[in-house]
Amino acid sequence: ETFNGSIFMNELLDDYLLSVNSSEIKLHRNIDSTGIALEADKFYLSTAIINLLNNAIKYGGTELTVSYGIDKADSTHYISIKDNGIGISPKYQRFIFEKFYRVSEKDTHNYKGLGLGLYYTKQIIKAHRGSISVESEANKGSIFTIKIPII
Ligand code: ATP
Ligand code: MG
Repeated sequence: ETFNGSIFMNELLDDYLLSVNSSEIKLHRNIDSTGIALEADKFYLSTAIINLLNNAIKYGGTELTVSYGIDKADSTHYISIKDNGIGISPKYQRFIFEKFYRVSEKDTHNYKGLGLGLYYTKQIIKAHRGSISVESEANKGSIFTIKIPII
């Protein structure tokens, strides 16, 4: 289906904030309002974004910045989620999208999970012919960026 990317992102964030304890989480929006058509499966794309938001909070984020816009250089919609949580050291970053992969708990954290969230997120984005990438530094935070081609 085709829908306005800006409206979609704002509605998703409105709904998401109702589901979290928003007094403890600061969410900054950086949503480009020009609203170009986004061709995607709304349900699956929402699931992918919510996975990233849940991780951002689960791994220590209290301040999140969500950005949406158009990257003219490669003709994509970009959606990025930045957090100020525990971060991921460079040596683990290339594994985190693998099925069942979790960063070694003794090394870094004690949060439980299956290691499936990012795997599924990546499958969903691949099905849209898009890409997902991470930039992160241990103890500083992470930025996950989704890109979906403009059709
Ligand atoms: P679940 O299947 O419940 O999502 P999970 O959160 O452990 O379990 P993924 O979402 O796939 O699995 O994430 C894989 C690993 O990447 C996590 O175990 C965690 O170590 C790391 N990670 C993911 N997102 C973040 C983040 N925003 N900040 C820090 N580490 C993260
Ligand atoms: Mg997860």
